[in-house]
Amino acid sequence: MGKIRVYKLAEDLGLESSEVIDILNELGEEVSSHMSTVEDETADLVAEMVNEEAAEDTKTESGDDVIELETSLTVKELAEEMGEEPNSLMQELVGLGIMATINQELDEETIETVLAEYGYEVEFKTEEEEEGTSYNELVQDIDDDPEDIEERAPVVTVMGHVDHGKTTLLDAIRETNVTESEAGGITQHIGAYQVDVDGEKITFLDTPGHEAFTSLRARGAQVTDVAILIIAADDGVMPQTVEAINHAKAADVPIIVAINKVDKHNAQPERVKQELTEYELVPEEWGGNTICVPISALQKQNIDELLEMVILVSEMEELKANHDRPANGVVVEAELDKGRGPVATVLIKNGTLKIGDPIVAGLSYGTVKALVNDQGERVKKAGPAMPVGVLGFNSVPQSGDLLQVLEDEREVRKLAERRQDEKRQEDLSQKKTVTLDDLYDQI
Ligand code: GDP
Ligand code: MG
Repeated sequence: MGKIRVYKLAEDLGLESSEVIDILNELGEEVSSHMSTVEDETADLVAEMVNEEAAEDTKTESGDDVIELETSLTVKELAEEMGEEPNSLMQELVGLGIMATINQELDEETIETVLAEYGYEVEFKTEEEEEGTSYNELVQDIDDDPEDIEERAPVVTVMGHVDHGKTTLLDAIRETNVTESEAGGITQHIGAYQVDVDGEKITFLDTPGHEAFTSLRARGAQVTDVAILIIAADDGVMPQTVEAINHAKAADVPIIVAINKVDKHNAQPERVKQELTEYELVPEEWGGNTICVPISALQKQNIDELLEMVILVSEMEELKANHDRPANGVVVEAELDKGRGPVATVLIKNGTLKIGDPIVAGLSYGTVKALVNDQGERVKKAGPAMPVGVLGFNSVPQSGDLLQVLEDEREVRKLAERRQDEKRQEDLSQKKTVTLDDLYDQI
C-alpha cells in the first residue's frame, strides 16, 4: 500500500492543497498540512468525490438546465438571458443557417434549437393576455364554464402547387353552397367563408394556403384545423406540394388529399398516390391513413365527397370553443376601404365579437362599429370559427395580428400605443446597428 502527500494529490487533481485537506477532513481523515501523507486508497476516494462533483457541475451547465423565456425574443435579449455575448450567439445562429441581426426577433422554434445547442432546455412563459395566446390555451382556459364550451366549425386551408387548382376549388366549394336566393347576388370576398354541409359548417380560408401557414403561423397564430392538399393528376407532386406537406406536418394538421383535374385525358391519379407514399402519406385504399379524393374542381365533380371527408376528419379532432366570453381572433387580411375606412377580415378563434366591443390588433385599435359576414350582410355578432369583416379600427392592422377585446377604449388604446412605442424603439435601434455596421465596412 503506497502513500501520497497531500500537495501531490492536489496537483494531480488540479486543486489547491487546502481544498484537498477540506475533502479529507470531510472523509474523517485528520490532516492539516499539505505535507501530510494519505493512503492511496483514501486518495482514490478523494479523486472519486472530486470527479463526481465535476460531473454534477457539467450536468447543470449543459444537461438539464431549464431556462424560462418569453415566446419571442430578440437575439440581444436571448443572449442576455443566457449570459452569452450577442456576437457569439449570432455566430451560433449562423452555424444553424440562420442569419440574424442583433435586434431580430427569434421564434419559439429557433430559440429552442439554439438553446439545445448550448445544452439548455427551454420552457416558455405562458403568455400574458395582452400578448395574445396560443389557440389551445385560449380554448382550454381554466376560467371557462364547461357549459359554455361548444363544438365549433373546422377551419380549413387549401394548399398545393401553383396551377393545381386551389382557386378553382375554393370557388367551386363556395358556389356549390350558395343557396338559391343568394345565387344571383354577388358574394362578398373577405378572404374567408363558411359553407354548410348537411347542417355542419366548415370555414375555408381563402388566403393563399402557404401564407396561412407561414406568415400567420410565424406570429404564433395557428389558424388551420385541416389542410386540403390539392394535386393536379396530370402533373403530380411538385415542389410546392412538398412544401405544403412539410408545413402541415410541422403544424401537426391533418391532411386530406384532393387529386384534381381527373377530367383530363392525361390524368394519372394512381401515379399521384404512388408519389405521395414517398412523403409518408399512404392512401387509405393502400392500407395507410391518408384520405385521397379524386375531384374535378373545374367540372365540380366529387366536391361533396371531399367536403364530407373534411367533416369526418374534423369530427375526430373534437374542435371546441367557448362562445360566451370576450372574443379573440386572427386578422386574415385587411385593407383601407375608401368609404368605410380600415376593414379587417378576422377569423374569430374563441368567444363572441359584438358591436361596441373595444378591440386591439397589433398596432391598431378601436371599437367595433359594424360586422359584415361572408355574404356581405351586416351582423350583430360573430362566434368561434366565423370569418367576419370588422369595421372600426383606427388604422389598418396586418394579417396575422391577433385581435383581442379588452375592458374599454382606454385599455385598447394604451396597449396599441405601447406597442407602437416598442416598435419605434426597435426600428430606431435597428437603424443604429446598420450605421455601425456601415462604419465597420468602411474601416
Ligand atoms: P391555383 O394556382 O392553384 O389557384 O390554380 P387555379 O385554380 O388558378 O387553376 C389553374 C388552371 O387549372 C386554370 O386554368 C383552371 O381552369 C385549371 N383547372 C383547375 N381545376 C381543374 C380541373 O379540375 N380540370 C381541368 N381540366 N382544369 C382545371
Ligand atoms: Mg390561385
